[in-house]
Amino acid sequence: MADFPELLDVGIMGHCKHGKSGLCQKAGIGCYQNGLSKDMPNMSLEDFKRLADECEGKTLQFALGGCGDPDEHESFEDILRISREHKIIPNFTTSGLAMTKEKADICKKYCGAVAVSWYRSEYTSKAIKELCKSEVKTNIHYVLSKNTIDEALQRLKEQTFPTEVNAIIFLLHKPVGQGRLDDVIRWNEREKLWELLRYISDNMEKLPWKIGFDSCIAPALLQNEFNFPDESIDTCEGARWGAYVSPDMMLIPCSFANDMIEWQVDLRNSSISAAWRSPVFERFRDCLRKSCKGECRIGKHDLCMGGCPLVPDIVLCGEKNFKEKKISVIFQKAPSGIYRRVLFECAWRHMRQHTIIST
Ligand code: SF4
Ligand code: SF4
Repeated sequence: MADFPELLDVGIMGHCKHGKSGLCQKAGIGCYQNGLSKDMPNMSLEDFKRLADECEGKTLQFALGGCGDPDEHESFEDILRISREHKIIPNFTTSGLAMTKEKADICKKYCGAVAVSWYRSEYTSKAIKELCKSEVKTNIHYVLSKNTIDEALQRLKEQTFPTEVNAIIFLLHKPVGQGRLDDVIRWNEREKLWELLRYISDNMEKLPWKIGFDSCIAPALLQNEFNFPDESIDTCEGARWGAYVSPDMMLIPCSFANDMIEWQVDLRNSSISAAWRSPVFERFRDCLRKSCKGECRIGKHDLCMGGCPLVPDIVLCGEKNFKEKKISVIFQKAPSGIYRRVLFECAWRHMRQHTIIST
């Protein structure tokens, strides 16, 4: 664990034009931030300055985000400038909807890299072109779900992602916000994902882009079936070396818990340093330390730590799947409707707790 967050995901955006217009849904992406309905104010410049002051000399990178495109923030350029003045590299992800040559030039001046989410639209290609023309290190963020896995494999094989981008970063779809549970790639439906991972691990040298993954997929990468070197894999960074700050100044171990109040520490009453050391963050770390410990049949607990502490549905591991099967037996025998869902949640919590207590 780091003494202070080295990577801070700063949610400067409280609402999203792209999401509200329905374009995310049209592209088949269920926004984990609930962009269709969320209507919070953006983070104020004063709050952002306070974060930069506290982080100077300790945090290496601000990943700007939240609910919306950071390049739509009213103080976009000031935010990037302040980051650099505090010797913190700003990066961000955008739908690209509002990208212009002027904004791309600002990104070139201040950003380490910019990621464009893969929304399969004219504005996606236009933003990528604009950023690359301004010589910004540009990546594609591609959400992997049951609906998008075929396209990902095809585009890699046929090399039809734009060749000028630096890297394709694959992110696991999560059933959070508007993200549907049905779209999650499950362990027992992993063939296509395994094909994609095998293709990447066998062809890494030949591909014209670097390939990256979010840390949420670490359990899959560690399954001894691919040629990814263990040294290149790190598991969930939440509360270990990274955290999220919401537009209303809550420090949270991960942005995917942006609606889970049990994981939030209010920075209006606390410094980042105190929040980082709080019982809330310690509880999150405990999930990682203790989940699966002594039970990992592939002997990789230290690298995997049981995967995502927030969303068990996304943990791609046979061992975890075995536990889920035990739960689903209880689930199937239960009466229908909400009661079944509640029972499922309780059974899952019990199973996790049991794992933690028994180690
Ligand atoms: S058993 Fe747990 S620690 Fe081991 S690979 Fe699976 S999820 Fe990770
Ligand atoms: S908490 Fe879960 S969703 Fe967040 S980074 Fe960790 S693994 Fe990914």
